[in-house]
Amino acid sequence: MGKIKRIGVLTSGGDSPGMNAAIRAVVRATIYNGLEAYGIYGGYQGLIEGDIKELKKSDVSNIIQRGGTILKSARSAEFRTLEGRAKAAQMLAEYKIDALVVIGGDGSFTGARLLIQEHDIPVVGVPGTIDNDLFGTDWTIGYDTAVNTAIDAVDKIKDTASAHSRLFFVEVMGRDAGFIALRTAIATGAEAVLVPEVETNFKDLEAFLEKDYNPKESSAIVIVAEGNDKSGGAYSIAEKVAKEHPEYDIRVSVLGHMQRGGSPSQADRVLASQLGAAAVEALLDDQKSIMLGIANKSIVHVPFNKTIKHTKDLNPEFLELVKVLST
Ligand code: ATP
Repeated sequence: MGKIKRIGVLTSGGDSPGMNAAIRAVVRATIYNGLEAYGIYGGYQGLIEGDIKELKKSDVSNIIQRGGTILKSARSAEFRTLEGRAKAAQMLAEYKIDALVVIGGDGSFTGARLLIQEHDIPVVGVPGTIDNDLFGTDWTIGYDTAVNTAIDAVDKIKDTASAHSRLFFVEVMGRDAGFIALRTAIATGAEAVLVPEVETNFKDLEAFLEKDYNPKESSAIVIVAEGNDKSGGAYSIAEKVAKEHPEYDIRVSVLGHMQRGGSPSQADRVLASQLGAAAVEALLDDQKSIMLGIANKSIVHVPFNKTIKHTKDLNPEFLELVKVLST
């Protein structure tokens, strides 16, 4: 592999607030190093189709504060095939793009690793997902903002829950991981949290509700991760509890996609700026097949192999903390 002159950047998988700040950082750091930056629109599908354009300094002006991604994101079934990735590699060659920064999650990095193995193209990853479920990094871009959005919504729900002495099941995002749910539960003082990583114990939940929730005089909030376990999301949990306790005044609120949007928090903007610039530095240091991350406040290089293979665990102390503080 010769010297890198052009760096491509794309966003892939679920979008997250702060992706724009990461794009800006990649483009600006590339230009700072005397190289050219190319934006690839629509994730891997856009790469296959050649939806590619040079990005100058001004193309990424005034985007650091915007949610979503100016490069758009997409899921590409074609990129999952050998032929699709061969087309992608050919497109990179056509545009003389020597290396790639992929901003996305686990699936995006799995695809990136195949592109590296099959076509020897250097790719580094920047963790952009609201779920915070990537092994090797303490924080992913978008997580802090998504949690802040969920907290804001739950605070509002608490006002009305309290006015009517209701029991609310609030569903937050997290199909396979409970990071958003757990942090939101602690930060809102929720009475309980249900996450995919821990099997729902209805006996415990009911015992706790019988003790702490009184439909005549108190309210309660249970945070449920969207993907909970086989017991289902907030509606299905609420239905089971309502069957046992017809006297409860139960409501369900599903926060949904609002958690993906909005202006990124300062934490996400700074993280995205750091990791985007570090991604360019890593490529210039001949790195490939790694994800940039942050661990104990320092930037770390995590091999794609590791972050793809391992699952990040929820902090058991945080799970315990919800129980302790709700008694
Ligand atoms: P998020 O966790 O936020 O949803 P993600 O990056 O995990 O982000 P995915 O939809 O899993 O999102 O992956 C994004 C894209 O990466 C897919 O649409 C596909 O093009 C590519 N990809 C995912 N898994 C593979 C795979 N096993 N082989 C090749 N490409 C893949």
